Amino acid sequence: MSYAPSDRQVDAILADAVAGTRISAADAHRLLLDGDLLELGLAAQEVRNRFNDPAIATYNVDRNINYTNVCVYKCRFCAFYREPGDPEGYLLPFEEIGRKIEETLALNGTGVLLQGGVHPELPITYYEELLGYLKSNYPEIHLHAFSPPEVKFIARKERMSFYDVIARLKAAGLQSIPGGGAEILEDEVRREVLAYPKCSADEWIDIMRQAHANGLRTSATMMYGMGEGLEARVEHMERIRDLQDETGGFTAFISWTFQHEHTDMQDVPETFAHEYLTTLAVSRLFLDNVAHLQTSWVTQGKKIGQLGLQFGADDMGSIMIEENVVSAAGTAHRMSQDEMEHLIRSAGFTPRQRTNLYERLVTREETAPLARKYRAALTPANRDLASPLPVIQ
Ligand code: SF4
Repeated sequence: MSYAPSDRQVDAILADAVAGTRISAADAHRLLLDGDLLELGLAAQEVRNRFNDPAIATYNVDRNINYTNVCVYKCRFCAFYREPGDPEGYLLPFEEIGRKIEETLALNGTGVLLQGGVHPELPITYYEELLGYLKSNYPEIHLHAFSPPEVKFIARKERMSFYDVIARLKAAGLQSIPGGGAEILEDEVRREVLAYPKCSADEWIDIMRQAHANGLRTSATMMYGMGEGLEARVEHMERIRDLQDETGGFTAFISWTFQHEHTDMQDVPETFAHEYLTTLAVSRLFLDNVAHLQTSWVTQGKKIGQLGLQFGADDMGSIMIEENVVSAAGTAHRMSQDEMEHLIRSAGFTPRQRTNLYERLVTREETAPLARKYRAALTPANRDLASPLPVIQ
């Protein structure tokens, strides 16, 4: 399979994408090389509006909980992990994770993303007990948890298939799987940045296939700007599109640029806004079977994140009550729900909170009873994120 740029004209490729005719990976490469940013954005918005209400942009309220930073791998782009035995390594007690969930509910949240390093000593029963504890204490919270590298490690440790690991976790309360660990789904790049040992491109795809076969939805991600070529990026997008054709299990595609501070790859040049918005628009044009695209305000900042809503994205992602992985690499962002709605409104859209799987919109009246119940759980650090509670008549 060649991922070299096609020799078609940009105008013809854009016309096809807007008309709903599938474009090839080679066409996407041509767009990344030669597309005019504003023309790409206009075309991407047409495709975005085929899938989504043109007047609305969505977001969600959830929290990333990194239950451990201990990791057996050493991805070069990662500033978050600590090696087993490192005094800075941690494993959060269940009660502490529960307290973080209470804070999420106090802020009108609907779900949490649980993701760790890949801790070598945790058996599958640890994950089952954690899910069971959270589901029995907080049945309302959506548990989006354990990305493919964690699933692979559990499968190897327990000598189980990917399918069976996911089935056990699902029975314990797992509701969907995050797309973390994809980075760039091309093995030469994965070997270069030391992401190959945690899972190959085929393994990442297969774990997502097995999740979908288990009836779980998952997200798809791409982290780029690690020095890889454009061929690798379009190959990645094609692998996502191919699996989506097969299973239909991806809810959304979320891409962001590598953040290099405190990593082993500080010599890699930064990826700037023009390239980010170009890549976002081309992914919208290429992924004709994925309904939702997020704009990454967490890595691009609030203003470029907002602009992403004009370049193919229909969703701003989470308000990020807590985020530890990107912030370990020098980029720390968080915002209140009110600020998120202000950003969306000032970009020309009606803001609406959504559920974690994008099935429906959420109102503050709906989240108010639990927000009221858990208000006292808010720590001083997060009190400024709280919105006034609606008056119940
Ligand atoms: S990216 Fe994930 S798997 Fe890689 S070192 Fe960091 S925590 Fe470990």
